[in-house]
Amino acid sequence: MQSIGNQILSKWYSTNYTYRALFQYEVKEEGYIMGQLIERNEDILDVVVHTIRFTYRQGFQAYQCQDSALTTDSGWGCVIRVGQMMMAELLKRHLKCFYKVDLFSFPPLLQDVLQMFKDDDDMESQKGFSKPSKYGFSIQKIMRVAYKEWGKKPGEWYSPNQIVQAIYKILQEINIPYCYGLGFVPFYESQIDLRAIFQEMCMMEDCVCQKKVFSIEQFLKSLEKLEIGKEEMVQVMHGNDSISDVCCEDQSEQNKKEIGNLLKKYICQKCFVPVRAVAVCLLSRIGCDEPNPDYLQAIRQFMKKKYFAGMLGGRPKEANFIVGFVDNKFVVLDPHLVQEAKMNPEEYIKSCFPGEALFMSDKEIDCSLGLVFYLKNLDDLIELIYDIQAHQQINFFSFAHIQHWKYTETKKEDQIRRIREMHEFLNEFLVPQQQQQILNLEISTYQEAYSNDSASFDQQPILKEIDSSYEEI
Ligand SMILES: [Zn+2]
Repeated sequence: MQSIGNQILSKWYSTNYTYRALFQYEVKEEGYIMGQLIERNEDILDVVVHTIRFTYRQGFQAYQCQDSALTTDSGWGCVIRVGQMMMAELLKRHLKCFYKVDLFSFPPLLQDVLQMFKDDDDMESQKGFSKPSKYGFSIQKIMRVAYKEWGKKPGEWYSPNQIVQAIYKILQEINIPYCYGLGFVPFYESQIDLRAIFQEMCMMEDCVCQKKVFSIEQFLKSLEKLEIGKEEMVQVMHGNDSISDVCCEDQSEQNKKEIGNLLKKYICQKCFVPVRAVAVCLLSRIGCDEPNPDYLQAIRQFMKKKYFAGMLGGRPKEANFIVGFVDNKFVVLDPHLVQEAKMNPEEYIKSCFPGEALFMSDKEIDCSLGLVFYLKNLDDLIELIYDIQAHQQINFFSFAHIQHWKYTETKKEDQIRRIREMHEFLNEFLVPQQQQQILNLEISTYQEAYSNDSASFDQQPILKEIDSSYEEI
């Protein structure tokens, strides 16, 4: 465990991944990756190398799933990999926001979390139903769930809806490490049910006190009266005029306060007390043949938010994890690279971080996608409600009551106990570990590596042709 430390990885990053091309991109207008503002080209590198990437693997053990002799997911597993990337990002966020632990400061913890996604789970994950499974989200586990639920055979391609549903099923198991205190709600066809988010965040189905106050309908009616969308239109019309921006700023803060007040009025404060974070995946179609430019514009607005945790998407039949945008391009982590499934622990950790990120233009993007949001608390939810209202003119998302939504079966007391245990475990686990910066992302290190290498760099083409419709950053 100790060997997977600061020195090895930082050295490896500065020698193998100098990210030359990333340094070259100058942000012209604006950029946001994983909800973080990108101002300088170094910022792109900083956020991208802190994002876990999974790719195709080869050489995993055959017959681990429904007697399939497949030993690789090359050519069919990209959607599964993107689903894993979503889950890894959520776990990273969850540890940081909910448990206040930075995954990158504790190598053994990072190893432990990545282990959950390891490709060769040797039937381990089948035991997950009785005891905590260290392979919670392995590809074999996902395939087993998909086979059990829909008879999906190994080697078959998944739709974004299916991978999200498979992960949802896995999360229904109550004993997956690091997932305690994290609810997950998938929404389909751009429809969001606030009731479901509240139920999951507060782990409460209905108001059980005498007040009997849990009326999302009335909340939404009153929300309409705030006319939040109109104020946004003013902002658009006035462009960057600083005076109107200031007015808008005041107005938006005021409106968020109002949303908070309305929630207090229509949702029982006594029964609905947030106990955990909720991840939301909004699955949408943003056009028939081509993506609607207005919707893409709205997506960029959501990508600026700190609750944004990635987007399932890509080109038709080629899934990617979309992490943000820079100017008019989306920034993409690509799973279409075949790596070995069997690696020693050090190599495995290294292999889970991107050596590159790609650009993708609006035209290439597939119309079927899933925006992922990590809502740490009620403030994040208020922010999301405000943002959805602000973009209601283009009718991108709408609030709805989803009939078939079923409230989680996880018991609140059980969840609270597990959250407490997780806190204790992390304290015990991490206290003896000296905090280490695994990826040692002092930009100066990279610049040094970059300049040392600049002579040979000059002789090489800057942009490697990966695919005709992609550009390397
Ligand atoms: Zn109540």
